[in-house]
Amino acid sequence: MPFVRHGDWVAPGDVLCVAEELAPGPGTYEDENGIIRAAISGEVRIDMINYTIEVRGKNAERRLLQPKETVYAEVVAMRNELAQVRVARTPEEALKARAYSGVIHISQLSRPAQSLYEAFRPGELLKVRVISGPPYQLTLKGPRLGVILAYCSVCGHPLQKVDGQLQCPNCGHVEERHLSPDYILKAGPPRKRR
Ligand SMILES: [Zn+2]
Repeated sequence: MPFVRHGDWVAPGDVLCVAEELAPGPGTYEDENGIIRAAISGEVRIDMINYTIEVRGKNAERRLLQPKETVYAEVVAMRNELAQVRVARTPEEALKARAYSGVIHISQLSRPAQSLYEAFRPGELLKVRVISGPPYQLTLKGPRLGVILAYCSVCGHPLQKVDGQLQCPNCGHVEERHLSPDYILKAGPPRKRR
């Protein structure tokens, strides 16, 4: 499996795939370890008929994320101290395509934690700020930053924010995250009886 999807945005040096999977096309190069990387900033094009991958650089430079910009990140993989994310200017782009890769270190949480798992989990969506890059270093320190979409660790259903905490509308499980005030799924006002 390539590390990127068709339509993703990448920066120079970003890992695309290993050479056994796809042949390097324009805008890419193979490094000494057999890893194909982006040579330029641009959009990933994967050709599954000819098994090639390329990066198209048209208008790519002005699309690069800027330091201090508030952006959205999907958590792809994580350990206790470091998370690998896909990052873009909108939640939709972070989840589907046109995303860059980035990392979040445990020192960049909004409050201290023993593990990144106290703040968020794989597959979840975050509002973050760019520190530097590419490669993008991201932080959760700042107003309105944090988790904006999380999933139940018991049943996988999206969690709903109820009275400042996260609750599963499917199984009732309650969980904690480092939440953004802009969390997407909020419980509506209590219904009045007629
Ligand atoms: Zn649940």
